[in-house]
Amino acid sequence: MSLSPTLTAYAQHWVTNLSYDLSRYAMFAIAVWLVICVLLRVPLARRKLRDTSPAARQLITEFATSLRTVAIFSTVGLIAFTLERVGMLPGAAFALRLGWSWGVASLILMILGHDAYFYWTHRAMHDPRLFRAFHRRHHRSHNPSPFSAYSFDVAEAAVMAAFVPIWMLLVPTSWPVVGLFMLHQIVRNTIGHCGYELFPANAEGRPLLGFLTTVTHHDLHHAQAGWNYGLYFSWWDRWMGTEHPEYLTRFAAASGRRLELQSAA
Ligand SMILES: [Zn+2]
Ligand SMILES: [Zn+2]
Repeated sequence: MSLSPTLTAYAQHWVTNLSYDLSRYAMFAIAVWLVICVLLRVPLARRKLRDTSPAARQLITEFATSLRTVAIFSTVGLIAFTLERVGMLPGAAFALRLGWSWGVASLILMILGHDAYFYWTHRAMHDPRLFRAFHRRHHRSHNPSPFSAYSFDVAEAAVMAAFVPIWMLLVPTSWPVVGLFMLHQIVRNTIGHCGYELFPANAEGRPLLGFLTTVTHHDLHHAQAGWNYGLYFSWWDRWMGTEHPEYLTRFAAASGRRLELQSAA
C-alpha cells in the first residue's frame, strides 16, 4: 500500500523542516555552550552572571524538551506549506520578484515584527491564568543555559511557531528571508541564555548598543519574572515600564564597570 502523492509531499516537507529546525537548534546551542560556557569560561569568568552553573541534568532536560519544540515548529510549518499549495500565500513568490532590496527590508521588518509579537505574547503568558499551561517549562530553567532556547511547553511552542505563517500572510516574505530570520533568531536566543555578558559597554558602563537586549537583560527575566519581557530589542520594556529597575547597574557590573550615574551631584 502506498501513500497518496499529497500525503507523501506533506511527510517529506515535515521531515525537511524537522532536519533544518533540529540542526539549527542543536548546532547553535552546542556551539554557544561549548565555546562560551566551556572553552572560554576562564577568560570570561568576570562576565559570568551567576555564581553557579546549570547542572548537566538540566541541560539534558532542556535539550529533550527542545526536540519536542522542534517537532511542533515543523508541524506548524505545514500550515504555511498548505497555504502556499492552495494559493493563499502568493507573497512568498511575489517577494522574490521584488529583488534583494525588498529582501533586506522584509528581513528587518520581520525581526521588528517578531520582537513585538514576542514581547506581547510573552507578557500575556506571564498572566497567572496562562503561565502554568504556556510558560512554566521555560522558567523551570531558573539559571538558564544555551539549551534553554527552545525549552518550551507545547502551547508556548505553538504560539512561537505561529508567528511565521501569520507574518507571511500579512507581509510578502520569501522563504530565503524566513531562513535568515530563523538564523538570527537562534543566534540571539542561544546567546541570550548563555549566562555570560558578551555585549560591549560604553565608557559609562551602559550597553554600547542600548537598543539591543543583552544577556543580563534576559538572565534577569529568568531570575525575577515580571521584568524584561523583550527578545531582541530593549524598547518595548522601556516604553511599557517593564525594564528591571536594576538592569543597567547589573549590566555594568557584569561588564566589569561601575555605572556612571548622570544624576550624581
Ligand atoms: Zn518568561
Ligand atoms: Zn528565556
